[in-house]
Amino acid sequence: MFDDRRPALIVRCAGAADVIAALGFARSKDLPVAVRGGGHSVAGFSTADDGIVIDLSPMNGVRVDPDKQRAYVGGGAVWADVDHEAQAHGLATTGGLVSSTGVAGFTLGGGIGWLMRKYGLACDNLVSADVVTADGRLVRASADRNADLLWGLRGGGGNFGVVTQFELALHRVGPMVYAGPIFYPGDAAVPLLRLFREWAPEAPDDLTAIVNLTTAPPLPVIPEEWHGRKVAAFLALSAGPVEDGEQHVRAFREVAEPIADLLGPMPYSVIQSLIDPLWPKGIRAYFKATNVSRLDDTLIESLAELHAAVPSPGAEIHVHQMGGAIARVPEGATAFAERSMPYVINAVTGWADAGGDDAHTAWARSVVAAAADASTGRAYVNFLGDPGAARSAYGPETYSRLVALKNEYDPTNVFRLNQNIAPDAA
Ligand SMILES: Cc1cc2nc3c(=O)[nH]c(=O)nc-3n(C[C@H](O)[C@H](O)[C@H](O)COP(=O)(O)OP(=O)(O)OC[C@H]3O[C@@H](n4cnc5c(N)ncnc54)[C@H](O)[C@@H]3O)c2cc1C
Repeated sequence: MFDDRRPALIVRCAGAADVIAALGFARSKDLPVAVRGGGHSVAGFSTADDGIVIDLSPMNGVRVDPDKQRAYVGGGAVWADVDHEAQAHGLATTGGLVSSTGVAGFTLGGGIGWLMRKYGLACDNLVSADVVTADGRLVRASADRNADLLWGLRGGGGNFGVVTQFELALHRVGPMVYAGPIFYPGDAAVPLLRLFREWAPEAPDDLTAIVNLTTAPPLPVIPEEWHGRKVAAFLALSAGPVEDGEQHVRAFREVAEPIADLLGPMPYSVIQSLIDPLWPKGIRAYFKATNVSRLDDTLIESLAELHAAVPSPGAEIHVHQMGGAIARVPEGATAFAERSMPYVINAVTGWADAGGDDAHTAWARSVVAAAADASTGRAYVNFLGDPGAARSAYGPETYSRLVALKNEYDPTNVFRLNQNIAPDAA
């Protein structure tokens, strides 16, 4: 959550040379540097009072090589740009649940999306990156060149430089997938989460699912009498054969009487932008999250109580199913903090007026506090709305490796508007 900021200068970069020039200027004037990809940072990391904003949004080009199954993506592209080009070839990679989210911040922090249990997090699909470093060099990070840097870019956020191009692995997906939400009355939250807990560990990797305790949006697909009332939703995507989808989610059609059942064959491009209208530009937002090792009855009941006590319809609790391909990558193989947690809980809030700031931030914090006993102590940095959370989110081993990398690539902490890894000299 952050208030309006007034940068001294916004440099709209068209390419790596502009980024190098902008960084050089910032260094010469000792200006704070903010790097803007898609601009979705809820902590406000991509803007700065009296600083320079290196705005990459003009660099949103995407080129797909269908033979190699690779996308070459500009540092300012958003997921809608990638999906548009990749789906033309029946290809996709793990992207955001909202299509206006930037590829850059999303991928560098980890990247939780519908394809992650089958194909890994977004950062697991990062094959190489072109990076402008703090001293103005353009370097390539890949398995063969600067492999340590590639390790840090896979989860370490924007700490090590400005990525001007991402090379992402693509996979055969769609154009139709089995996907969408089932909405139930809010009082089904407890049985729904209990079923989710039984179902999630057994579900095939094709499936990635979320339980969302939320408020029914005023959409025509939801019966009008439910608009504005508490609902619990099960959302899933099966990246396997469309005809296999139904059998994997059948139990969710019996756990409670659905209000609206939209889970079925759907174009991949539609599920990728389905909830965009709920996230208009310019709203205030705050997220707070934790990784949990279990969903016990006490936690489930607490989440249901907090759902009943939301400060506004824009406050919701997401319980993400993890595992699958995410957990098959060895811990420590990338900078992404943790691999083995079965669930991530994210308290997501969005509201319109500054008067709502305290109520929404306090409520989101209370959700994470309620999960303290089940928490692994780690968290996904992209779901943290407060700065200064990196040390605990990554844990001691990964954090000390990240500090060593920061010492090498950014010893004076030029890139500090992020979940900051402070170099030893800072
Ligand atoms: C509506 C909404 C939906 C979301 N949904 C999801 C989701 O489904 N899954 C998920 O995992 N996360 C999700 N997030 C969180 C999202 O991953 C983070 O906010 C992410 O940082 C956004 O990236 P961005 O490029 O849009 O943000 P920005 O605000 O532009 O940047 C975020 C951070 O990345 C740095 N950065 C940006 N571009 C570059 C670059 N090219 N090189 C180096 N550093 C750069 C910035 O300096 C900043 O520190 C969501 C956020 C919002 C607001």
